[in-house]
Amino acid sequence: MRWEADIELDARGRTFASGLLVELIAALRGSRDGALLAITGDASAIGADLEAWCRLTGNSLIASTSEPGGTRWVLRCGAAPAEPDHRRPIGSRLWLYTNFDCNLCCDYCCVRSSPTAQRRALGLARVQRIAGEAPSVGVTEIFVTGGEPFLLPDIAGVLAACAAAAPVTVLTNGMLFSGSRLRALQSLERDRVSLQISLDSATPEGHDRHRGQGTWARAWEGIQRARAEGFRVRLAATVSTEAEADAFRTFLDAQKIAEEDRVIRRIACRGFASEGIALARADLVPEVTITSEGVYWHPVGAEDEDLLVTREIFPLSDAFAAVRQAFERESEQSRRLAAIFNCA
Ligand code: SF4
Repeated sequence: MRWEADIELDARGRTFASGLLVELIAALRGSRDGALLAITGDASAIGADLEAWCRLTGNSLIASTSEPGGTRWVLRCGAAPAEPDHRRPIGSRLWLYTNFDCNLCCDYCCVRSSPTAQRRALGLARVQRIAGEAPSVGVTEIFVTGGEPFLLPDIAGVLAACAAAAPVTVLTNGMLFSGSRLRALQSLERDRVSLQISLDSATPEGHDRHRGQGTWARAWEGIQRARAEGFRVRLAATVSTEAEADAFRTFLDAQKIAEEDRVIRRIACRGFASEGIALARADLVPEVTITSEGVYWHPVGAEDEDLLVTREIFPLSDAFAAVRQAFERESEQSRRLAAIFNCA
């Protein structure tokens, strides 16, 4: 993907020592947190300096691509919001993307799911093998996401296989609980499977603006249905601003939703999203994510090349080792760069 930047700088042969650094600092000084700045120049002349400078100053390097005029780096002004609960052991949480197609087409979907997206199914046989190997590599919880998982005819088997390995949370838009899909839901073990249903706002306007007319009402209906069936339901909101997050918290308080059943996150600038928080790999503590295409660093970019770790899913022990080793290597590189600039 090509990131649209708020500011474009052309290095024009300059290096950090010959004027570029001054221009860079001036550009960032006038930028808001989260703004994107692109620099195009010669990789051998400025690449290493730019990377080190970004790590030291907390301005995250989001991407670098080769273009006709040279290498184009995109960096985000300011640090990414801290991830909560990042002391969780790497690999204890496993994400599975089961299919990618979806009955909705949300304008911020981070993996471009929609009714016309091709189904890229992980498939029951692979899920069963993953579930069989997962406990031995340290997985203690499994999150299953789609697109919309309940579009799959074998979703009951997929979730049952996962639930045999670890407690499962299935992410859904909650709009398909009728007929055979309701029966699939009803077949699941209440003490092993929880639901995380998307609801972006207290009233339909905010939710429907991103997800489509009438979707708030149907999601709310799905939440009530899942609760009536005896499932634990977490509500997950994707919001644009802190004001929207606050308004949703007020709604959750009124609904007496427990803290542990609330997920409120900002829109990530990936997939369909044209705005939101630009997140680089270095901003994200890895949460092993498996799709039909391979093993990814984090669910927020589960089809993006920069977050791909390996195309080989099996044996799971190798895939998990690859993620852990990459995290160690990249953390070590960050520490080393910081040490180079120790002044005393
Ligand atoms: S955000 Fe969820 S519900 Fe919306 S299109 Fe993506 S997968 Fe479907």
